Amino acid sequence: MSTVAFLGLGAMGRPMAARLAAAPGITLAVWNRTAERARAFAQETGVRHAPTPADAARGADVVITCFPVSADVEAVLDGANGLLAGLARGGLLVDCTSGDPTTSRRIAARLAEHGIGFLDAPVSGGTIGAEQGTLTVMVGGESALLARARPVLETFGRKIVHCGEVGAGDALKAVNNALLAIHVWSTAEGLATLGRAGVRADVALDVINASSGRSNASMNLFPERVLTRAFPRTFRLALLDKDVGIAAGVAREQKVPAPLLQLTADLFRVAHGALGEEADHVEAVKLVEQWAGVEIR
Ligand code: NDP
Repeated sequence: MSTVAFLGLGAMGRPMAARLAAAPGITLAVWNRTAERARAFAQETGVRHAPTPADAARGADVVITCFPVSADVEAVLDGANGLLAGLARGGLLVDCTSGDPTTSRRIAARLAEHGIGFLDAPVSGGTIGAEQGTLTVMVGGESALLARARPVLETFGRKIVHCGEVGAGDALKAVNNALLAIHVWSTAEGLATLGRAGVRADVALDVINASSGRSNASMNLFPERVLTRAFPRTFRLALLDKDVGIAAGVAREQKVPAPLLQLTADLFRVAHGALGEEADHVEAVKLVEQWAGVEIR
């Protein structure tokens, strides 16, 4: 039996919390900044709606957060309604935000002063992986804390990997997503070039996907989202911009020359600025199309 609080019912958090709500042996409380979303979720699933982060955390063995950025997690720690007012000594905060290592280390240090454990535990697998409980969870922090959290993480995660100290999960997630961004952008440039040269995108992908230039972008994202012009909104471009920026920042901090990471961070910052807060990450392709004067079809 375990008492869990889940904070942040967004595109990822909502289906992750739904897996917890359906799991036997877990008592769940949920909090969301826009209270109406948490209220509706609680009504649908029969879990408790908490009016504040402190209230959600009261009596919880494990608190999970899933916000856009680490600064949002840091901001719910303090004050009469904050997590620290509700979490007891011996409690554990598991942050599933794709966060940044520096802020995560600062949060861990603050919680440690109160005898509370911290794991950074970003996830990959998208909204479908969250719905199906097949996420990969990359964890930074003490392995004894992960052992405690593992049964809870297993409700939405299939592959749960201990990556190192606090911040290691964040760093790995950021680099993974930087690779995603590179693949999306470079595949768009390649297909736009081929389009101008008279090769249809479906023909190009047929060959590339049987050859060494293939990637998740060429095998799945382009056929399903670009060639169909569907561009479903599952993962905001704003969040991918943030992730590539984190990866580029880690490279700078570690003094690793990484011109491709720095350039990709700049490109996604430009795309985010041009396409806005609600655009999906794959819509970055539209900027490449605009520059090339060709649509990838
Ligand atoms: P969304 O934008 O869909 O949801 C964000 C959630 O955080 C909402 O519940 C929102 O509340 C809440 N929130 C936003 N700002 C604050 C704040 N300042 N204080 C408190 N709560 C806040 O994001 P996602 O669910 O897509 O992403 C969440 C995290 O997961 C991100 O770090 C992202 O990079 C990562 N991720 C996303 C994936 C995806 O496919 N979408 C895949 C893997 C990781 P409200 O309802 O009030 O807006």
